[in-house]
Parts: sequence; C-alpha cells; structure tokens
Amino acid sequence: MSFNTLGLSIALLKAIEKKGYTTPSPIQEKAIPPILKRKDVLASAQTGTGKTAGFTLPLLQILSQGQKLRKRPVRALVLTPTRELAAQILDNVRAYSEYIDLRSMVIFGGVNANPQIRGLRGGVDILVATPGRLLDLHNQKALSLAKIEILVLDEADRMLDMGFQRDINKILNLLPTKRQNLLFSATFSKEIKKLANGILHNPVWVEAAPENTTAEKIDQKIYKVDQKRKSELIIKLISEGNWKQVLVFTRTKHGANRLSEKMVKNGITAAAIHGNKSQGARTKALDGFKKGKIRVLVATDIAARGLDIPLLPHVVNFELPNISEDYVHRIGRTGRAGASGEAISLVSNDEVSYIKGIEKLLDEKLQSEIVEGFEPTATYAGDGKPKTSTHHRKQKPKPNNRNYKRRSRR
Ligand code: AMP
Repeated sequence: MSFNTLGLSIALLKAIEKKGYTTPSPIQEKAIPPILKRKDVLASAQTGTGKTAGFTLPLLQILSQGQKLRKRPVRALVLTPTRELAAQILDNVRAYSEYIDLRSMVIFGGVNANPQIRGLRGGVDILVATPGRLLDLHNQKALSLAKIEILVLDEADRMLDMGFQRDINKILNLLPTKRQNLLFSATFSKEIKKLANGILHNPVWVEAAPENTTAEKIDQKIYKVDQKRKSELIIKLISEGNWKQVLVFTRTKHGANRLSEKMVKNGITAAAIHGNKSQGARTKALDGFKKGKIRVLVATDIAARGLDIPLLPHVVNFELPNISEDYVHRIGRTGRAGASGEAISLVSNDEVSYIKGIEKLLDEKLQSEIVEGFEPTATYAGDGKPKTSTHHRKQKPKPNNRNYKRRSRR
C-alpha cells in the first residue's frame, strides 16, 4: 500500500514525502478514505499509530478543496486534552500543509492569551485547541465557531478523564449542527460510547493496534520492594545498568519532583514533567530527553500521554497506576518498531491490588522478582510471610503465558 492510492492531493503527497514516510500506517490506511468521503469516523487508536496524520491529511485535503471564505473563519477544530499534544498536532498540521494555502494555529491555557487573540484576528482555517482556553477565548469573542465544517476530538478518553466533559458539551453547542465529526480514543468506556453516540452520525469504525502489541518485544517485570526504598532501587538499576534513556512514571506531581531531585543528587541527569510545570519547562525537559541530554524523564500519566517520545529501551513504573489501562499506555512507550524494551514496575505491598487489575486486563500473569539487598519487610497480600531471599528470585510466572496480549477494551 502506498500513499498514492489513498486519494490524497499532490501537494499533500509532496509534504508526506518530505516527512520521509513511505507507506501509510494501518490507521491511516483505514481512516483516510472514509474521512475523504466526508463520513463521521470513530477511531480506536493511541499515540504511536500515526493517528495524527490519519486525521490531519484528509482534513487538509477537504479544506483545501472547499470554498475559501474571505475572512478565513475557523473551519476545522481539533480538540485535544493537553498543551503538549496540541502543540504536536499543530506541528503536524503545519508540516503537512506546507504546500497548501491554509492557516493553522494552536491555543492552550497556561500562557498569555493576548498573542493567541492577535493570531486569531488574522483569520485561521484550522484551530487546534484545549477545551478550557477555547471557551475562554470564545467568551471573549476572540473567535467564532459558527463555520466549523470538521470537528476532531483527539484522545477523547483522556479529555473525559481530565474532566473536560462539560467543556466539550459547551463547545458542541457552539458548533453548527451540520459538520463532519472524527473521534479518536485509545479506550472505549461507557462514557466514551455515550459521548460518541451523542456526536457521531453513522460513524465508520476504524481500529489500529499499537505497534507494540507483540508481546515478546516488551519484557515486563515486577520488583517487589518497600515503598521507602524505591528511589534507592531505581537509582541502582539505572546506574548499574548504565541505562541511557529512561521514562519513569510516578502517581503524583510531587512524587515526580522529589524523585527527579533525588536522581540529580545522585549524579543522574533527570527532569520532571507534569501539569504544574510551566509550558517552557516541559518543552525544555522533553527536548533534553529526546536529545539525550537528560537520562531520566519522570512523568505523571497525564503529562506523558500523547507525547511523541521515540522508542525507549526502559520504562519504569515507580508506582503502579490505579487505572489498569494506564499501565498499558505506559509500557506502550517501550519496545516499539521491533526494538526490544523493558518495562519494570516497582511494587510495594500496598499496590498488590493494582497488579491484579493489570493482570486481568492483560490476561497475563506478571513475573515478579526481588532484588538482592532490597527484600521487602512488609507482607504482600497472598504471599504469606515476607520474603527473605537474597537472590533475584522469580515467583512462578504462569508458563507459556508471558506474552502481552492486547485485548479489545470496548
Ligand atoms: P502519532 O501516533 O500521530 O503521534 O504519530 C507517531 C509518530 O509516527 C510521529 O512521529 C509521526 O511523525 C510518525 N508517523 C506518522 N505516520 C507515519 C508513516 N506513515 N510512516 C512513518 N512514520 C509516521
């Protein structure tokens, strides 16, 4: 399959070539044709599948073929949960529209609104936005949504998780009823289905498995360790293993800061990335991490979600997420594109119930070990007495069941 057969214009094909893509990803192959036919689309896809190009390319083609309106009102709106994701989508839109006369802009909170207001005045065809700032600027009459032809809800599940449901409803009320709707979500909870039912008309359902569905590529391990010794253990693993690029997940922003500070004190370059960090600090941290100047990026789930981080050899769950699906997103950061990756979880005795949920979702028993010198003193539910082994000890993984299977979570 090549991009030429998808019905995209020469200008778009030229931009795709410049990006260096040779073949469309599965989600692009499946989503682009129905979007070009002006169908509503419900897509099950997460970051890393090429979903952004999957909706951006056809959206650009539709807008470039449509009638140009003199004042350039916003004709396509892409709603997305986080600032980083919004900025990334805009980068994509700009790259793909290099040979097309369409203007695009991004608006998100946490930064001065004035430059955004000024930018909107000049006329914008495609607006990428986070819900809160969009409503703010609409209330200030800095923009109109009355001419929207295409609405994209990207990472819809995360928008709901972040409490944007009401904002989304308000935004929907500001849009013309006749429009094309595209909804992208990694998971399909009851809430997402309800949202989709309320927005989409006879949607075409497309689904793309993430690149890392194959199991063998991700080696998942659990190290049982007392909560208070986790930082010591992770520092040991990173230092002794000489790990160069590690993404570490913590459950809280505070925890992310503390851990990153401890790493730095121990001579490991690290930075924390979470919702309380300024936009500038987050961009700098991510940049440093990608360029290899920062060895460890400590992130919360929300901050990490949607970030375009290249394949990583190591992902560590400093704490397990209480939402099992977040575990799948987290470990999805490793072992991409055929490279092998390791996902390690440091699990204290109060987190055992999370493992059960994760194992159920994965349909797999996770292998657990104890690192010498880090034997937990606490009792783990189901284990009986505390383990006293001084060895890397494996605790009976179920045979032949080690592969990470992605299950439909609809
Ligand atoms: P996304 O899932 O949209 O965040 O995209 C993940 C990464 O894949 C981004 O770095 C894209 O630039 C890249 N990408 C998107 N489409 C393709 C393609 N057809 N071939 C190669 N890389 C792609």
